[in-house]
Amino acid sequence: MKINNLSKNIFLKNGTIYDPVKQKSIKGDILITNGKINGIGDTIAPKGADIIDCTNLIITHGFCDIHAHFREPGREDKETLQTGAKAALAGGFTRVCVMPNTNPPLDDPESIRFIVEKADETPIYIHPIGAITKGQKGKEIAEMGAMKSEGAVAFSDDGIPLQNAYVMRLALEYAGMINIPIINHAEDVLLRNEGVMNESVISTKLGLSGNPDIAESIMIHRDLQLAQSTNSTLHIPHVSTKKGVEAIKEYKSVFQKISAEITPYHLYFNDELMINYNTNLKTAPPIRTENDRKALIGALKDGVIDCIATDHAPHTIEEKEAPFELAPFGMIGLESCFGAVNKVLVQESGMKIESLIDLLTIKPRKIMGFEQDLFAKGAIAEITVIDPKSSWIFTKDDIYSRSINSPYIGEELFGKIIYTIVKGSVVKI
Ligand SMILES: [Zn+2]
Ligand SMILES: [Zn+2]
Repeated sequence: MKINNLSKNIFLKNGTIYDPVKQKSIKGDILITNGKINGIGDTIAPKGADIIDCTNLIITHGFCDIHAHFREPGREDKETLQTGAKAALAGGFTRVCVMPNTNPPLDDPESIRFIVEKADETPIYIHPIGAITKGQKGKEIAEMGAMKSEGAVAFSDDGIPLQNAYVMRLALEYAGMINIPIINHAEDVLLRNEGVMNESVISTKLGLSGNPDIAESIMIHRDLQLAQSTNSTLHIPHVSTKKGVEAIKEYKSVFQKISAEITPYHLYFNDELMINYNTNLKTAPPIRTENDRKALIGALKDGVIDCIATDHAPHTIEEKEAPFELAPFGMIGLESCFGAVNKVLVQESGMKIESLIDLLTIKPRKIMGFEQDLFAKGAIAEITVIDPKSSWIFTKDDIYSRSINSPYIGEELFGKIIYTIVKGSVVKI
C-alpha cells in the first residue's frame, strides 16, 4: 500500500465511472481539484495534473462499512483506529462505523468524543456507534441524546444481544425520538445456549454444541415487532439464516423503517467447512448451511436485505489458536470483502456489478443518513477504483489489520481494489 498526498489536480483517466446516485455508468475521466470533484465525464486535465490511468477499471463512490470492530479503547493489541483505517483503505472503504463493544464500552458522550477526535487523525472517516445500555449490561439505557450530539450515528450493544424485551422497547422509543437507528445483535441467548457453531448434522458429527437458526429468527421477529409497535428505526445486523430473511421480508411489506445487512463471510462460507475445526470460521452468528447461504444471496439479489457490512472483528492469533470451544467469535473482513462478495454475487450468482456496488456505497450510507451524492460538483473526493475482473489469491501480505488470521488466506478471490481516494490522499493498494 502506498499513500500519497493528493496534488492540486488529480485526473482519473479513461475509466468506467459508475454513479450509484444516478444509477448510470459512463466512460470518461474525473478531475479532482484541491480534494474536491471538479469535473466528471468529458473533462480536461489541467497542465501539470497527476494522471492516473483507469483503463479497464471502474471508478465509483468510496465504500461504506456500517459494522466494524476497531477495538479501541482497550484492546489495541487486536486493532486500533489507525490499523483498522489501513485495513479499510485496502478494502476500498473510505467510511466505517465502529461498534461500541470496546473496553470500556462507548456508552457515554465522552467516549464518543474520544473516538471522533481520534478518528480525525486517521486516513478515513470513522463514525462511532454508541452503546444502547450503560456498560452494555442490557439494563439501563445510555445517554442517547448526548451521545448523538457528540457524533454517535446509531446505537447497538453488538457482541451482546439485548435480551430484555422491555429495555429493547424503551431503546427503540428513545432512539425513535431522536431519529437514529437501533442495531441489535439478534440471537436469543437462552436458545443459543453454549452453541459454538450452527446446529446441524455437522455439529453433531463434530461433537460441537450447536446454535440453532431459530435463535436468530425468534429474536429478529421480536425486534421487528417492537420496531413496528414503536414506529422506530431498526437495523438488523449480520442476518445469517433463511428464516431471518423470511421474517424481514414479511415485515418490510407493511413497515418501512427496517433495514438489514449481510456479512461477506455468511455469503462466502458454509458450515460444511467446519469439519477441520478451523477457528477462523468461528463467528457470531455462526456460518450456516448451504441452504441458508443461498437464501442470503437471493435476499441481496431481490432487495430484501439492504447492504453488505463486514463485521470486521479482529482477534489475536493466540486467542484464535485456542481449542474451538474456547476461541473467540469473529474474523477480519475489510481487506477481503470486495474480492469475496464480487466472486459470490457477481461471478457465481449473476448479480450486476452495479447492484453490488450499490450494496457497498449508496445503500449503507442511506441507512446511516450519510451524504450520498458523492459525485456532485464540489463534493469532497471519496472514491474507490476497482479492477472488476482480476483473479487473485488472498495472502497474509494483503492484510493490514493488526489481526492476521483469516479463513480467506489461500482463497482465490475475484475483483480487486486498485486505488482508494479519501481525505486528501490517493492510496495505491
Ligand atoms: Zn454482532
Ligand atoms: Zn459485530
